[in-house]
Amino acid sequence: MRDFARGDPSASGAPRPDPLGLAFDAAREAAARGEVPVGAVVVRDGAVLAVAGNRPRADRDPTAHAEILAIRAACAALADERLTGCDLYVTLEPCAMCAGAISFARIRRLYFAAGDPKGGAVEHGPRFFNQPTCHHAPEVYGGLRESEAAALLRDFFRDRRS
Ligand SMILES: [Zn+2]
Repeated sequence: MRDFARGDPSASGAPRPDPLGLAFDAAREAAARGEVPVGAVVVRDGAVLAVAGNRPRADRDPTAHAEILAIRAACAALADERLTGCDLYVTLEPCAMCAGAISFARIRRLYFAAGDPKGGAVEHGPRFFNQPTCHHAPEVYGGLRESEAAALLRDFFRDRRS
């Protein structure tokens, strides 16, 4: 047993998920497909509802960011247009589009790994959740496993240039 053995009385013997770890796995899978390596996971009450990696190239869809795909899949799983009580884990600071979707989805908490000074919209750029036109802001926890996330992106873009 690994460290997820720490007891959760609600768990029926199932291992506790490591949502950010799953998001990193999805990001690496995206990189292997030639997509920018970003992964996202939606969790509610300790259960993983959706895991997604970036797919704009594969889907020929500029909106197919990992966060959007994970939110769509979680909404489908819950048959609900809102993800009340759900938390989103993502390997990179969300962009403006995804920050908007996170707000509309009523995500409770946002956990992200690396900040994105070039494209992020949470701690950078528009700082969407701080705007008066944003009507639901999640609790935000950034900088988790930041160096690992930054290395993932750096390696991806270095390999593409070479
Ligand atoms: Zn995005």
